[in-house]
Amino acid sequence: MGSSPLQTALNEIAASARAREDRGAVASYIPELAGIDPDQFAIALARPGQPTLVAGDAQVPFSIQSVSKVFMLALALGQLGDGLWLRVGREPSGHSFDSMLLLELEKGRPRNPFINAGAIVTTDAVLQGSTPRETLAALLRFIRAAAGDDTIHINDRIAQSEIATGHRNFALAHYLRSHGNLTNPPDLTLGTYFHQCAVEMTVTQLANAGLFLVGGPDVPRPVSERHIRRINALMMTCGHYDGSGDYAFRVGLPGKSGVGGGILSIVPGVASIAVWSPGLNHYGNSKLGTEAMEQLASRAGWSVFGAGERGVL
Ligand code: GLU
Repeated sequence: MGSSPLQTALNEIAASARAREDRGAVASYIPELAGIDPDQFAIALARPGQPTLVAGDAQVPFSIQSVSKVFMLALALGQLGDGLWLRVGREPSGHSFDSMLLLELEKGRPRNPFINAGAIVTTDAVLQGSTPRETLAALLRFIRAAAGDDTIHINDRIAQSEIATGHRNFALAHYLRSHGNLTNPPDLTLGTYFHQCAVEMTVTQLANAGLFLVGGPDVPRPVSERHIRRINALMMTCGHYDGSGDYAFRVGLPGKSGVGGGILSIVPGVASIAVWSPGLNHYGNSKLGTEAMEQLASRAGWSVFGAGERGVL
């Protein structure tokens, strides 16, 4: 039996990514990430109740970094509900992922939960009343249940590498604390945040873990439908930092990137897609990963902005 049109599309996208020489630059500000081989590329597509399709280096685990913010936000909304919005906003920032600028102007209330300052506040809110170990265990439980895979783990070496060098994040945390928007000591919240960012997954595991955001009868439902819509909305408007508008324009799907080179994108009601290519564009989002999402969405005719136009698959 020949392969499905979607599998063919994934194979072709992976093959053309492999052949590319302009791959972007690997994140070097986290020393443990600086040595990653930029020639790797993988893509996975998960649909409710169907086998996950993969192409490229789909067995290689990578550091999901800021994609973890999606799972921590889901955990925070499940545990704390709308109270979270007292401490963090829902607007795109238009600034880089680790910017301090707006935080000073807006008196310590970060624009959204996906820029670093907002993610640090979100982690701090979940951490309140428990230990870093318990919070990270809850996060791993959430991700493992969502992916249906108990082997997903945290890479402590990468977390330690960021603890030793993440001065900007320490600056953000102390600044938040000075405005009363950090409940725990900065070291405690950041230790948790850096370990959360150091979760490692393959694209297959990540695409499967994203299925809860797709919805439908056959997928785990760890948070309410209302929260799912809101997480997807935030991924669309804020998931790619100051490149969020460009991603919405080019791909047309909610997505969250990480500086490890991973992107998770959701086709609501249809599919969860994960892509990984470690080289980043100037926004700090995976260069070939973004291009691959753009190609797949266009070939399949997937866009939340579509007017019923069908793709070629
Ligand atoms: N751990 C990274 C940081 O805080 C995450 C950034 C990202 O993936 O965009 O700098």
